[in-house]
Amino acid sequence: MPIDATQPYDDSNIFARILRGEIPSTKAYEDEHVLAFNDINALAPTHILVIPKGSYVSWDDFSERGSDQEIGAFVRAVGKIARDRGLVGSGYRLLANVGPDSGQEVPHLHVHIFGGKPLGPMLT
Ligand code: 5GP
Repeated sequence: MPIDATQPYDDSNIFARILRGEIPSTKAYEDEHVLAFNDINALAPTHILVIPKGSYVSWDDFSERGSDQEIGAFVRAVGKIARDRGLVGSGYRLLANVGPDSGQEVPHLHVHIFGGKPLGPMLT
């Protein structure tokens, strides 16, 4: 069910619960500002979700309210995870669904990292 992008951050969402340790996840990376874990429904050999630890609904919200430190840490973490997973030579895909038209389902910003096989064309 796509999110209602007009709603403020709701800390009962599933990724907030993963951040609080209420729901298990397979951790791929963590630092002061960022957590990354395997997607529960992997669509590629590597399918990792990268989230900020701060409370941001979407990329829209993060790019507006996130601090330079949080945004910098997030961008660097995505790159580091891809490098550490050996995806740089073969390539990979980053995806952030934002709001209802994208089909964003979890109202806590997340970037998908897909890799480990040829990914084919993007959906339109
Ligand atoms: P969206 O469609 O919002 O961009 O992506 C949400 C992603 O979160 C989906 O790929 C879905 O498989 C993943 N997901 C949903 N619930 C859980 C969960 O409880 N644990 C993990 N690891 N991933 C989840």
